[in-house]
Amino acid sequence: MEKIKADVVIVGAGPTGLSLACQFIRYGVDFVIVEKNEGVTPYSKAIGVQARTLEIYEQLGLAERATTEGAITGKVRMLEGGEVLGEVNLSNIGEGLSAYPYMLLLEQSKNERLLYEYLQSHGQEVLWQTELENFSQTETNVTAQVKNASGASQIIEGKYLVGCDGPKSPVRHALGLSFEGSTFERLFYVADVQIDWKFSHDALHGCLARNSVVAFFPMKGKNSYRIVGAFPEGFDKDEGEVLFEEIERRIREEAEIALDITHVNWFSTYRVHTRHVNKFSEGRCFLAGDSAHIHTPAGGQGMNTGIQDAYNLAWKMAYVLKGFAGERILDTYNEERLPNAKRLTETTDRMFNIAAGSDWLLNLIRTTVLSPMAKFILSFDLVKERFFRLISQIGINYHDGSLSDHGGDGEFDVKAGDRMPYSLVDGKSIYDALREPKFHLLTFTDGKGDYQTMRGEIETEFAHLVDYQVVPLYPHVAEMFGATKPFNVLLRPDNYIGFMSQETGLSGLRVYLNKVIGCP
Ligand SMILES: Cc1cc2nc3c(=O)[nH]c(=O)nc-3n(C[C@H](O)[C@H](O)[C@H](O)COP(=O)(O)OP(=O)(O)OC[C@H]3O[C@@H](n4cnc5c(N)ncnc54)[C@H](O)[C@@H]3O)c2cc1C
Repeated sequence: MEKIKADVVIVGAGPTGLSLACQFIRYGVDFVIVEKNEGVTPYSKAIGVQARTLEIYEQLGLAERATTEGAITGKVRMLEGGEVLGEVNLSNIGEGLSAYPYMLLLEQSKNERLLYEYLQSHGQEVLWQTELENFSQTETNVTAQVKNASGASQIIEGKYLVGCDGPKSPVRHALGLSFEGSTFERLFYVADVQIDWKFSHDALHGCLARNSVVAFFPMKGKNSYRIVGAFPEGFDKDEGEVLFEEIERRIREEAEIALDITHVNWFSTYRVHTRHVNKFSEGRCFLAGDSAHIHTPAGGQGMNTGIQDAYNLAWKMAYVLKGFAGERILDTYNEERLPNAKRLTETTDRMFNIAAGSDWLLNLIRTTVLSPMAKFILSFDLVKERFFRLISQIGINYHDGSLSDHGGDGEFDVKAGDRMPYSLVDGKSIYDALREPKFHLLTFTDGKGDYQTMRGEIETEFAHLVDYQVVPLYPHVAEMFGATKPFNVLLRPDNYIGFMSQETGLSGLRVYLNKVIGCP
């Protein structure tokens, strides 16, 4: 039987598996990615691309293309009985918080294509039509048996295996991990269509109906929309049994809008589940994306969360494989991403219940309270900021994780475990300087100190691990961090804060890399 060797075997080339492969390319990790389908998905599926994902795309050089190919959600327009109830402007909702202060609408198929093309442009390929059949692991290795496009079995030997194999995850089943949660009673529909109607194409339209919200997302292209809604409880058909005519009838009944659906690009019906694993890894095998958590489509989080799982795992695995970090750093993947998956299922359930719950009180909230309140509530900057941090995933933190050393952050408003706050330095995003796949030690200074010695020491001792930069301590940056004097921030390669300190010298860095990361 033919044998392939690689450091990591990735199972599944959806957005999560492709993202993991792209990150491994950045770190120079040797991987094989297998996918049972013959190419990237042709279906639009997820459409919400969040700011945090765009920050990750930026490091891959893909953010500009994504924003050009997608549509920015400018406004939300609430409708009832076919008439406008109110409008909320969202175009710049996250201004000052990210270089991407909005939600981008770009179909999953296009996201997958972007990631796949990145892979190809770096001389890598997915093994298409190659299905994982079984796998085993020892203390030092994993062995996967796959069936390739010609039907022959092949062995792939690696040091780690990552199941990015979607909600039915054969990898999760084989590892015996649980996937507890529940399934919504109602059947949901999604349709990508072209519409003629009286409303302008610059807004997400939410029709507040008695039974649910019917949402119309404006997609790139004239009159193109994604429509999402639900059939009532007791509807007697299941996934795959519904004709588009039934969906169209339902849209008309619920939304009560005069509209003409002139073209249907794609439609689907699905049951909404909300579940997560009890842990993200077992031995040398890991899970990421929908194989580890699935939740309602509320807030457009699914695809983004998988991309973020991959981003969190990639640098840790790369550092272990290169001998820069101890193997126990891999435990912090579960430590950081499991609480996130739990929080996510709770918040998306809450949002989803308001949009589609069948309770009489929810019906009342939807039809009478939601629209005027939304406009009023979102007029407060603090609420806007909280809402954006939640939806965009920039607010995810790892404060409680063991990679967050709080020893020196007591004085500051920003803490170890926070994502590096966005700011402009000399008119450019601070993230422009944070693209190298390394730790970044930043000294924020008023320009009075001499940092040449420190720079020299870092270059001699840590050039392979740490990039060092001196950054002006502008008043807006000092205010954001709650800082009164110069300070250092150590960023992990995923741009989360490892530690902060006002000490000069490298003792903090040495201790962190040695004790926390396990760097020999
Ligand atoms: C209709 C619909 C609408 C959605 N809307 C949104 C949205 O608006 N926003 C959002 O964020 N999310 C949305 N989602 C969810 C989103 O599509 C998923 O979260 C996303 O696809 C997860 O990516 P993934 O790579 O983890 O899994 P998947 O995309 O499921 O990819 C898993 C891959 O693994 C492959 N695979 C499985 N078993 C094997 C095997 N044995 N061997 C080899 N390959 C295997 C599969 O073929 C598949 O390609 C939506 C989903 C659907 C269906």
